Amino acid sequence: MRALRLPAWKSEPELVEVPDPEPGPGQVVIKVGGAGACHSDLHLMRDFTGGLPWAPPFTLGHENAGWVHAVGDGVTGLEPGTAVAVYGPWGCGVCERCRLGVETYCENPAGAPVPAGGGGLGLDGGMAEFMLVPDARFLVPLPDGLDPVAAAPLTDAALTPYHAVRRSWAKLPPGSTAVVIGAGGLGHLAVQILKATTAARVIVVDTREQARESALRHGADHAVAPGERAAGEIREATGGRGADVIIDCVGAQETLALAGAVARMLGDLTIVGIAGGALPVTFGSPPYEVSVQSTYWGTRPELSEVLDLAARGLIRAEVTTFPLDQAVEAYHRLENGELTGRAVIVP
Ligand code: NAD
Ligand code: ZN
Repeated sequence: MRALRLPAWKSEPELVEVPDPEPGPGQVVIKVGGAGACHSDLHLMRDFTGGLPWAPPFTLGHENAGWVHAVGDGVTGLEPGTAVAVYGPWGCGVCERCRLGVETYCENPAGAPVPAGGGGLGLDGGMAEFMLVPDARFLVPLPDGLDPVAAAPLTDAALTPYHAVRRSWAKLPPGSTAVVIGAGGLGHLAVQILKATTAARVIVVDTREQARESALRHGADHAVAPGERAAGEIREATGGRGADVIIDCVGAQETLALAGAVARMLGDLTIVGIAGGALPVTFGSPPYEVSVQSTYWGTRPELSEVLDLAARGLIRAEVTTFPLDQAVEAYHRLENGELTGRAVIVP
């Protein structure tokens, strides 16, 4: 089969011929129906040189959905042809965190299929005709009304902001304001998740006009361009109080500075983007009792919740599809800021 492989750190991915995967005991091979192109893959191609517990080469694609193709010995309840989403972060399955479905924060990484990774992050992902899923528990059958192309981006671009928003639900009652910085793949879904699951007013910030317009189409109440006036504009829109919750889907120096400047006392500032910025924390800055945290992906139960929101039409990934032989082009367009929503590779 053909697969889009990352051959080494700081390299361009290559479309190459590789053997079809075969499922071992407890494993499942899916026929890939869609694989999302995440900005994190650009960080893998451009920024990382090591420092992770895994390394290339591997097949890219960590946002995947498709159909059960072949099951290994001992796998029950997954008939070939069943449409499934792949839960991406693969933990050991038996530590305290994994037993609760929080496989992102597995405490026994040596017992996982790959330490602190998954398919497309250390092991082979979904930018190929078939994908080996090392344990049937990582597959969630798709609810009626959701196909693999629509579902693929939900497994990360929706699951990640869903996890971030969900942990801040208590701070988002009617009358509150949430700010989403970066309205791309994750951000346009963060807006919809906030609208579907809270009563907060939603303000987005993005450098690109087309991303701001996309966010407004997807339900944002207000869109702001970054720059000198952005913080004032956001404070004004909140009656001077500031934002109760900020989800920073960029994580650069300037976005964290903006987030710190517009946070409301007692609010949450959640860093989702991995652009490498830092936020100095000192007495009274950011404002008193603002909780600052980073979050990584989401939990297995949360993926089912995200799929339910989508099946009921409450959230929807805006998708541009590309065939596998144009996957490199899709990443270039993502890098150049030429896409809205998410690019999904359809092998
Ligand atoms: P994307 O490229 O689709 O979207 C990023 C958006 O941010 C774009 O619309 C861009 O115009 C905007 N932007 C860039 N710089 C900006 C700035 N200074 N101010 C305002 N807007 C700015 O990327 P994505 O796939 O949505 O990923 C977003 C980030 O989240 C990436 O850093 C990615 O690696 C990271 N990520 C983190 C997790 C996690 O678990 N924490 C999961 C997936 C992705
Ligand atoms: Zn574990």
